[in-house]
Amino acid sequence: MNKIASVLAGALMSATAINLAHAADIVVGVSWSNFQEERWKTDEAAIKGALEAAGAKYISADAQSSSAKQLSDIEALIAQGATALIILAQDSQAIGPAIQAAADEGIPVVGYDRLIEDPRAFYLTFDNVEVGRMQAAAVLAAAPEGNYVMIKGSPTDPNADFLRGGQQEVLQPAIDAGKVKIVAEAYTDGWLPANAQRNMEQILTANDNKVDAVVASNDGTAGGVVAALTAQGMEGIPVSGQDGDHAALNRVAKGTQTVSVWKDARELGKTAGEIAVALAGGTEMSAVEGAGSWTSPSGTELTARFLKPIPITKDNLNVVVDAGWITKDALCQGV
Ligand code: BGC
Repeated sequence: MNKIASVLAGALMSATAINLAHAADIVVGVSWSNFQEERWKTDEAAIKGALEAAGAKYISADAQSSSAKQLSDIEALIAQGATALIILAQDSQAIGPAIQAAADEGIPVVGYDRLIEDPRAFYLTFDNVEVGRMQAAAVLAAAPEGNYVMIKGSPTDPNADFLRGGQQEVLQPAIDAGKVKIVAEAYTDGWLPANAQRNMEQILTANDNKVDAVVASNDGTAGGVVAALTAQGMEGIPVSGQDGDHAALNRVAKGTQTVSVWKDARELGKTAGEIAVALAGGTEMSAVEGAGSWTSPSGTELTARFLKPIPITKDNLNVVVDAGWITKDALCQGV
């Protein structure tokens, strides 16, 4: 090795040593909003895996669908020494003071899966408008005409309206042609399946059961919808969802749910863990791999990265099996 090469190698080695020493000091605090939902456990395992690989520490709290608890959770995570935060916001409006508290301490934030409308937070999610398009497209293919019900997500989660926007784009031509009629729509407080079920029951009653298809915004709400339909002997009409929940994939196999848009939470979680470590180590948001600039519907410019969703129907269930998301055995349960 000549002199320059050995100086360079030495510099590289010490940079690596510094990075390793640094990673050991990184504590990533994850604030969950509603951990009871199946998918978040997968997200958590992936975040933990990425942090472990980087030698960083994981701490967390679950707001249990309370935006007030989420604020105190985040204060507690900061007090416990978090050097980066990953936040799944329960309420996009109420989360503001937590972002300010993090900024005051110089702690970087990853807005996880749900929009936090603050340029200081890195926005990492799937393309939720596209998820909405995929949901409506699969339902429309199965029910090209008829009375539609839209079961939306939580009113405090911007994803609910992103999804609804994508759904409308796809349905609009059929609505304009007089083929599809939206007879009812309802938000689902806290995304809770029981609330979706109650809303669906009321909608069925109000419409004399004259419903031909339901665009439900995730698998949890789809579960509530299918329970309400089953009680009326109407199971089997087209219903959408998202997340690739195991119960939902089984409904797809059985034919009581038409589509579950699959967002590989393992990829989102891993990416979030890696980004949190990079930001905690001083990487600029714009220098994060795959980062781009994105402007929210209300005009805020954010640094963001979007992953791609995949619709899963009865015809391509092999995709989730091949990806190791669900085993063939688990998929056959209940079929
Ligand atoms: C996520 C969905 C999830 C829902 C309820 C949304 O923000 O994008 O994947 O099903 O929250 O937890």
